[in-house]
Amino acid sequence: QDHSYQWLKQMIEDVIVLLNTQAMKKGINIILDCPQDVVVYADKSQIKQVFINLIKNAIEAMTESGNIYIKVQVSGEFSLISVIDEGPGIPKHLIHQVKEPFFTTKKEGTGLGLMITTSIIENHNGIFSIIPNQGKGTTFSIKLPHYDSAM
Ligand code: ADP
Ligand code: MG
Repeated sequence: QDHSYQWLKQMIEDVIVLLNTQAMKKGINIILDCPQDVVVYADKSQIKQVFINLIKNAIEAMTESGNIYIKVQVSGEFSLISVIDEGPGIPKHLIHQVKEPFFTTKKEGTGLGLMITTSIIENHNGIFSIIPNQGKGTTFSIKLPHYDSAM
């Protein structure tokens, strides 16, 4: 059987391997919860860029040790992906601004990561949203269709 369209989980695992050294230096664990057979209708290298952007941001935001959770669930015609960090969170009044090009609070930031993430997800007929957590940290939520919605 050909499972080559079920690439999401393996791709996220590859990104975790890529960023794990940087995370472990800060005492951060990246925890993945994803079904093996999940399918998204999307360009693999673009979605990989999305995960790199979000996980990098999460690592950079966390000043103390803790966890980053990546959760993938299947719901009807969509995959629901959450990247949850335990960092300081984004102030409510900045939630929309952080997606703007060149908005950065970092000394050497480009301010492009979340803008690129937004446009990649929207180009795939998905939805990208940022939700402040109740306690501390931020949830970045992605909804992607399983199939070509134009078909
Ligand atoms: P950059 O990482 O180059 O600053 P981004 O577009 O990736 O650009 O992020 C824009 C800004 O959004 C960051 O500078 C930071 O202020 C805020 N931000 C992004 N991700 C997080 C996060 N996980 N926790 C707290 N703030 C964040
Ligand atoms: Mg960034």
